[in-house]
Amino acid sequence: MFQKMFGWIVMGCILLTGQGVAMSQSNQKAATIVVLLGPPGAGKGTHATAMSEHLSLPHISTGDLFRENIRNNTVLGQNVKSFMNQGKLVPDELVLDMLFQRMEAPDCARGCILDGFPRTVAQAQALDAKLSKNTRIIALNFNVPDSVLIERITGRLVCKDCKKPFHKRFDPPRQANVCDTCGGTLVTREDDQESIVRKRLEVYHEESQPLIEYYAKKNDSLREVDSQNPKEQVFRDILLALSTLKTKESL
Ligand code: AMP
Repeated sequence: MFQKMFGWIVMGCILLTGQGVAMSQSNQKAATIVVLLGPPGAGKGTHATAMSEHLSLPHISTGDLFRENIRNNTVLGQNVKSFMNQGKLVPDELVLDMLFQRMEAPDCARGCILDGFPRTVAQAQALDAKLSKNTRIIALNFNVPDSVLIERITGRLVCKDCKKPFHKRFDPPRQANVCDTCGGTLVTREDDQESIVRKRLEVYHEESQPLIEYYAKKNDSLREVDSQNPKEQVFRDILLALSTLKTKESL
């Protein structure tokens, strides 16, 4: 209850700055885009789900959108599958249209939480170019050393239906392979096998890590979160990081 109220206060503060427009068309309302940075397994998906609920902003995961396309056997799904199964990044021309189209949906009018995008500085620049001048971007960087990530990712389970994440050891479901929330079946992602995870980490360090500096320099919107801490503490830190940002800017 406290967290819910705190979430609303934080989001109210952010939006009250009167800045931000989701996409670059005219007559848009104030909006805030929260960009989640960090390596695979850092907890972005888990916290994005909670943030989405507490801040009432949609959670958009480019990885989830691709997996949905693969499940539905669309042309896009067929094109991205081999990149994902090798732990490589999907080319920008397949990412940008899909994401920007999703961000134009009415539920993004107040903004959204981006999980897994941008993955490269070029993608961040494409996002900047797409947004209007007033758009507020807040980047949260989830810090976790590589040594912890492999164990986290290879034990990961995700609900096929509602996408809620679990972990075989650290966050097991009440009943084996059944989602506590919706009763859906829990599955292991194809790209969560150790060899692919190692490749994904390599790609992260090469291509995505420079984003930390990009957002730190760009408009001082970067905030760090120590994602090694227990889940509840990380979530409190996230809400605090968002509120600190407002306090600093309103001075
Ligand atoms: P995720 O669910 O964020 O871990 O993403 C799973 C996979 O989807 C990644 O390893 C990439 O192959 C692909 N992917 C997701 N988001 C992007 C993106 N923004 N740019 C390129 N590839 C992406």
